[in-house]
Amino acid sequence: MNINTDVCIVGAGPGGALLAYLLAKQNISTVLVERHIGIDKEFRGEHLNSEGEQILKKHHLYEKVQEYGLLLMDRVEYWEDNKIIKSIFPSSDSMHVGIHVPQNHLLNVILNETKKYENFQLLMGTRVSELMKDQSGNYTGVKAIKNGQEITINSSIVVGADGRYSTIRKLAEIRTTIMKHGYDLLWAKVPSPLNWEPTIKLTLINKHQLALFTQAGGYIQIGWNIDEGTYSKLRSESFKPFVNQLIDAFPELTDTVQKNINSWDDFVLLNVQSSRSETWVRDGLVIMGDAAHTMTPTAALGVNCAIKDADRLSEIILQAIYNQDTSTKMLKKFEYDRREDIEVLQEQQIKQESSFINNFALDK
Ligand SMILES: Cc1cc2nc3c(=O)[nH]c(=O)nc-3n(C[C@H](O)[C@H](O)[C@H](O)COP(=O)(O)OP(=O)(O)OC[C@H]3O[C@@H](n4cnc5c(N)ncnc54)[C@H](O)[C@@H]3O)c2cc1C
Repeated sequence: MNINTDVCIVGAGPGGALLAYLLAKQNISTVLVERHIGIDKEFRGEHLNSEGEQILKKHHLYEKVQEYGLLLMDRVEYWEDNKIIKSIFPSSDSMHVGIHVPQNHLLNVILNETKKYENFQLLMGTRVSELMKDQSGNYTGVKAIKNGQEITINSSIVVGADGRYSTIRKLAEIRTTIMKHGYDLLWAKVPSPLNWEPTIKLTLINKHQLALFTQAGGYIQIGWNIDEGTYSKLRSESFKPFVNQLIDAFPELTDTVQKNINSWDDFVLLNVQSSRSETWVRDGLVIMGDAAHTMTPTAALGVNCAIKDADRLSEIILQAIYNQDTSTKMLKKFEYDRREDIEVLQEQQIKQESSFINNFALDK
């Protein structure tokens, strides 16, 4: 099977999906390729800040996501010895300190809106495995596999929006520097107790951050930092004393934790890292979102950065297609506009991670 298109986007995460929408809406023929069959993926970044909110509002998507369901966070609370020691409330110009947006709600809205455009094609359950180049070294498309069949997608621009382990980045031989942050994360989700307010609660357990993120639909997402690389050792130890530390810190959660977290298998391990790529652009090719710059979970920035990338990149691609100029020089405008911002945020994440403990009494 052969497809010809202006832009082929690899990866229907928040970044790739929004980019597809913004391009299709501007009459650019766009193919979006996603290896998963559906979009009901678990354990993804789901908290948006006000920048992410503004982008969704700018493109009239926020109200539609709201109809599917989202939840505004009232405050951030710091807890110590079962007491709140500090709270952060929304600033005067904001209604919240973050928004929980279930990723399947966000993706459903964006993809449903995008499907309204005839020049858009979505290939789910399709994995990209090869990049194509012409004799001058310009990227000219990808090869992908769907149900064992090869699909060739010829495009003027290939966009790698395929996440932190990006295939497109590797195939384009773009070097990336991975930064480890000294911790990994255990992640679990439990139904929230009755009358649980929409908050983000933070505490320290043995000098490690434990975070409770309230979620839309009556859930709490638990994010528990552990020392980097220690998970297998931790798993060899008894589970109950470990999880009891969570119950001791938040006794209101006793029932829900005892019902839902009974073994190490009820946690998912996330290897925390951030990354920077040597370039985001080659002739006829761009990488964006986590593929270009993975963020750590701190301050919930990754989705926001990916959709901000999509917003800016759509404008550059529009110019490139109309000018029939898909050279590195043309596409590099995207990287010039976004790289500095991203690197500042990555520095801030490192600072926040190293000073988190200062929010609490130091003898803990
Ligand atoms: C524990 C944790 C918590 C986080 N919490 C938050 C948070 O609260 N808020 C926030 O803003 N960010 C958060 N993040 C970060 C956030 O999840 C990412 O930054 C964000 O999802 C990046 O979006 P993206 O579109 O660039 O890539 P992704 O969301 O990773 O999407 C990439 C897509 O590409 C597809 N793909 C990959 N390879 C191929 C291929 N070869 N062919 C076809 N498709 C392919 C994948 O299936 C995937 O759907 C968190 C991250 C972690 C690890």
